[in-house]
Amino acid sequence: MRNLVYYKTNDFKKSTHPDSKCPRCGNFIWGNELEVDHYGISFREIAGTFVDTYVNDLGKTIDEFYNSMRYVLDDVLNVYYIRNENELNHLESKFREKKDSRIDDVLFWIQFHNASMTLKVMHKKCHQMKSKETQK
Ligand SMILES: [Zn+2]
Repeated sequence: MRNLVYYKTNDFKKSTHPDSKCPRCGNFIWGNELEVDHYGISFREIAGTFVDTYVNDLGKTIDEFYNSMRYVLDDVLNVYYIRNENELNHLESKFREKKDSRIDDVLFWIQFHNASMTLKVMHKKCHQMKSKETQK
């Protein structure tokens, strides 16, 4: 599921001003120390809420979603994740032409994720520490 929204965090990373401060330790973050963090609500929580919504509100099974996702990703030739918005638009029009609705499942997830997330930058080390704490 991360593969599909990779472009979003990547765009955010590229658009971030280099002298941002880390919300965890308060120090400046330099180039290669920078990592993107899901602020407030974690990626895992967003994915969990999505699965509940997909199953309960749409009345579909989670296998259906995974099948659509796998199919759509395999269709992106030699690419296992979506790198930018153009790639996503290209993928969408390709599936629309074929009238293949499996793209809708994937777009539903991408939109759900993008609407739920708040991204912030953090130090790589601070981010690792944060991830360790939230896994407990
Ligand atoms: Zn930090």
